[in-house]
Amino acid sequence: MKQRVFSGFRPTGKQHIGNYLGAIKNWLLLQDNYECVYCIVDIHALTTIESTESLQEDIHEMVLDWLAAGIDPQKSILFVQSHVPQVMELSTIFGMLTPLNWLLRVPTFKEKVKMQPQNVNYGLVGYPVLMAADIALYKGEVVPVGEDQLPHIELAREIVRRFNLHFGNVFPEPQGKLTSSPLIVGLDGIQKMSKSSNNHIEIISTPKEILQRVMTAVTDPARRYRSDTGHPDKCNVYSLHKVFSNLNTIEEISSDCRNARIGCVDCKKLLANNISNEFAPFREKRSILVSKPEYVREVLADGAKRAEAIAIRTMDEVQDSMKLLRRDIA
Ligand code: SF4
Repeated sequence: MKQRVFSGFRPTGKQHIGNYLGAIKNWLLLQDNYECVYCIVDIHALTTIESTESLQEDIHEMVLDWLAAGIDPQKSILFVQSHVPQVMELSTIFGMLTPLNWLLRVPTFKEKVKMQPQNVNYGLVGYPVLMAADIALYKGEVVPVGEDQLPHIELAREIVRRFNLHFGNVFPEPQGKLTSSPLIVGLDGIQKMSKSSNNHIEIISTPKEILQRVMTAVTDPARRYRSDTGHPDKCNVYSLHKVFSNLNTIEEISSDCRNARIGCVDCKKLLANNISNEFAPFREKRSILVSKPEYVREVLADGAKRAEAIAIRTMDEVQDSMKLLRRDIA
């Protein structure tokens, strides 16, 4: 029996290099060794977005990227959170078991309060409860996470443990699986790569677009002229070379930069070329998928059906263990 992985991602539209290296690449590896459930958490997104205008398009574009990158709907369940409404039911039940002070101390909640003081909504404080329901509904045992999400997983474990203690052993306690992906800093060289910081490169970008974006990247701030020697370890272009270039190129750049044998423009051109080559098969596959507009819809419908089958079984167990009167036998 394979363990079940659950992972959720907010609908952010076209994916960028940071998304690819931080999440998608790991998911591709996991889907061969685990039973994977990959969910687009559109309800979670409602806690922060001001408008739902682009939500459908964002979901569509994101799924196109995932499929083109190699997420295989035959191996993995790929679906939209709101298509399986039982998650809201389980979240409500978990909400009855979760002390408010557990939620108020979550670091990301405190950050969000600072970021959007005008919109500290009920969903924002309940975010980890819904996340626990997401994982538990599908009996997720393994959850791939970055370090910053570990407190959420710990909270999910506490909620699940509390349920099991009160009502019997229904849910496995999920384990966080730390992903080994490098932190991808954006083109500004300061913040994590993200769309909101506009310091990203979309993986669907054409070679020309990739070059244009890379050319805007901040380099070693101490290297002002071509004749200055550089410090590659202080340059984000170099850290991207470490991800996209081969070992020889990485070593050559390091040495040439330190000895002023290469200029930043040539160094960036080389990087843009390597990024472009890395995503050439992706671009080709995506252009085929785009020509089949119904395909994404079919994948998501099938994923929702498979996810709901698991959810119905889980909720039957939940209702039985809680001694609730089940509708189907009332
Ligand atoms: Fe960075 Fe390359 Fe310029 Fe060196 S040559 S500072 S590694 S962009």
